[in-house]
Amino acid sequence: MTQLTRAQIEWTLLPPLKDVLPYRFENGASFKGFRAECDACGQSIELPQVRGRITPLAGNRCVVSARGRCLCCNAYCEYHYLLSADGTLSASPLAVWDDDHSLSPPH
Ligand SMILES: [Zn+2]
Repeated sequence: MTQLTRAQIEWTLLPPLKDVLPYRFENGASFKGFRAECDACGQSIELPQVRGRITPLAGNRCVVSARGRCLCCNAYCEYHYLLSADGTLSASPLAVWDDDHSLSPPH
């Protein structure tokens, strides 16, 4: 019997990240995606296997919250970045917060 793990379900529920790319900042800079690597085996994860959201912030910044699925070892990896397009585009990793706060409320 195949049982879906929580990580699989959450990944499936997220929209593909490529749907929101390239992301345009207020100042016209664009973010075309990032190079994801598997935490477990180090293989690169192709963009079609990355799902997530981009949340705009004031001041030419946004938060990228994404999950990648590694086709090599079937691991799910999380990526949380704060992007800033002031000057050159820069990304800084965010601490991973408790997932329970990002789940959709029950219907
Ligand atoms: Zn892997």
